[in-house]
Amino acid sequence: MRTRTWLSAAAAGLLLFGAAYAVAQAPKPQDTEQWTPVPPIVTPGPPPSETSAAPPSDALVLFDGKGLDQWVATRDKSPAAWTVADGILTVSKAAGNIETRRSFRNYQLHLEWRVPTDVTGSGQARGNSGVFLASTGPGDAGYELQILDSYRNETYVNGQAGSVYKQHPPLVNASRRPGEWQAYDVIWTAPVFAADGALKSPARVTVLHNGILIQNDAVLAGETLYIGKPVYRPYTSAPIKLQAHGDPSPPLSFRNIWVRELAGP
Ligand code: MG
Repeated sequence: MRTRTWLSAAAAGLLLFGAAYAVAQAPKPQDTEQWTPVPPIVTPGPPPSETSAAPPSDALVLFDGKGLDQWVATRDKSPAAWTVADGILTVSKAAGNIETRRSFRNYQLHLEWRVPTDVTGSGQARGNSGVFLASTGPGDAGYELQILDSYRNETYVNGQAGSVYKQHPPLVNASRRPGEWQAYDVIWTAPVFAADGALKSPARVTVLHNGILIQNDAVLAGETLYIGKPVYRPYTSAPIKLQAHGDPSPPLSFRNIWVRELAGP
């Protein structure tokens, strides 16, 4: 009897130890944060005028200030319920992420965004949004090019504005101050998958932030994840998605969004 009690206690102890070990080994968000080197600050030229540049003739206009016909809610594909006023689109955190009705493979994308002057918080909780260059599922599934207030706001460098989230810090920090319009110009080359789902060629991205090169044909390791290592999941074409981040700081705005589809694999 005494032996059996001892054995039970030993088994329970082993179980507890095992559970504690598993918790200690579980991947954590911090595991994939990179804090150095900090990208140098480069001050861009003056911000675009009140009426920013018109899209080129062959662009598909995704938002021109008038409405959201090109967008749906990511969660249920219902009409996108972000706020459109005075030609500007503003995130509705309650409505969640929105994405394009149409799907794309390779493209050139232009989009302008603005952190509000009354932005609050710090780190990832200060003016967080993002553009998912391919939305491969609900929530934040896909490949995120980070949008954040990175004007005098320290965070992990592979999570600051212009980072390929938790994969590539921007080459430089070209951020403008809150209240000023900023532009991303993106060239996205989609990953290619074989019929059996194996990766044939990885996704690549080039990004200009306020006209300054911040990602130069960067090769992605897979979808961008908050926790864990990036992984590829096969897709052929996907919507472009904008993030309604859950942080409590006042919401960002967007304007002048257009895309030019490109030929490619
Ligand atoms: Mg984000």
